[in-house]
Amino acid sequence: MSDDIRHAALSDIGRRRSRNEDSMVVEPELGLFLVADGMGGHEHGDVASRLAAELIHEAVAGGEELEGAIRRANRHILGQSGAGSPFPMGTTVCAVLMNGPTYRLAWVGDSRAYRFNGDLERLTTDHTYVQELVDRGHLNDRQAREHPYRNMLLQALGVTDQDELQVAEVTGELAPGEGLLLCTDGLTGELDDDDISGILAEDGDLESAAKTLVDRALEHGGNDNVTLILIRRDAM
Ligand code: CA
Repeated sequence: MSDDIRHAALSDIGRRRSRNEDSMVVEPELGLFLVADGMGGHEHGDVASRLAAELIHEAVAGGEELEGAIRRANRHILGQSGAGSPFPMGTTVCAVLMNGPTYRLAWVGDSRAYRFNGDLERLTTDHTYVQELVDRGHLNDRQAREHPYRNMLLQALGVTDQDELQVAEVTGELAPGEGLLLCTDGLTGELDDDDISGILAEDGDLESAAKTLVDRALEHGGNDNVTLILIRRDAM
C-alpha cells in the first residue's frame, strides 16, 4: 500500500451484547481491510465472522481476487453450517483491497462502506429486505431505519447457496484527503449518515475520529457490536 494511505480500526462489544460477533482484518501490507458481522440469532456468529475474515485474508494473501476469495469463504462456511449441521451460522462481509490510491470494494450483507471528504457518500447497497423496499420506492431511508424487519438479510456468507451468492463490487480511486469508512451495522444502526459525516468532518485525526464514532454509537445505546475501519489518503 502506498505510504500516503493511513488507517485506524476499532471494534467494541457495545452495551447490550455478551459477545463480540464482529471480526475484522487490517493488513496494510496487503492493502486488505475488512469487517464481518456474525449474524445475530445464529448460534455461532462469532465463529462465522472470524472464519470469513481468516479465509478471505488467506485467499487474498495467496493472490486471489477479492470476489473469488469471498466466494471461497462462502463455500467453506456453508460446508460447516449447511443442512443438518449443528453449527448454523452466517456472516456479512465488507472488504476493500487497496492498490495505491485505487480501491476495489466487495461486500455481502449489510456491512457498509462510505467514502468521505467533508461529505459522506455511501458506496454499498445493503442486501436487506428493507433496502429492496427502498429501491422499489415503498419506503424512504428513515422508514427503513425504523422498520421492524430492518435486520433481515437477503444474503449472507454461510447461509446463501453458492450459486445464488451475489458478491457486489465497486471500484474507485481516493483523491488526496479522501477516505473510506467500513463498518458493521452496530455503527449505522445507532448513527445516521449525517451524524457520521459530522464526526468525520470535525475530527482530522483518524484514530480519534474512530474513537469518537464508537463512543457516539455507545452513547446512543450501543445495542450491537460496533466495528469500523477508517482509511484515508493524505491531503496534498
Ligand atoms: Ca451487527
